[in-house]
Amino acid sequence: MAFLSFFLMIALSACNEAQLPTKTAIRKTMTKQHQSANPYYSRTDTTRLNLSDAVWKQVLSPAVYDVARHGSTEQAFTGKYWDYEGKGTYFCAACGNMLFRSDAKFASTCGWPSFFETVRPNSVLYRKDLSFGMERTEVVCGRCKAHLGHVFDDGPLPTGKRFCMNSIVLEFEPDKS
Ligand code: FE
Repeated sequence: MAFLSFFLMIALSACNEAQLPTKTAIRKTMTKQHQSANPYYSRTDTTRLNLSDAVWKQVLSPAVYDVARHGSTEQAFTGKYWDYEGKGTYFCAACGNMLFRSDAKFASTCGWPSFFETVRPNSVLYRKDLSFGMERTEVVCGRCKAHLGHVFDDGPLPTGKRFCMNSIVLEFEPDKS
């Protein structure tokens, strides 16, 4: 009898695995894949990261690495989020730090995803950027210091700020319906 119960348990578990994966299961798989490729990625650990350039080069894709670690800028109107209107949260693609909510995203004609505020004041850090003969404020991730973009004073109310970000260093997670 015990053997029959054990056999039934195995059979039921196999049937369960054969079912189509749910959205949550897909999301968990995606997160696991990301974590296995980049062991420093976490959506819960807020410990600041201070890794060498060589380590970042090893764990990030070349496209993310170029923008996140060397301040490259993706071409306007080419990123996946510049006109995206999905409801959810944007995380740092390099380390998983929570950065923006879609509620703070606004339609901007600049060709890059634009937000009027971060999720938390310390979600990002700021640096003076004097490159290209301009004086701008660079925005970097508050956890891993990945270059995200720049912030300008021509955004909408209530803050008047425009966080002009590179899509490639953002990772969008839709709200659970
Ligand atoms: Fe980060």
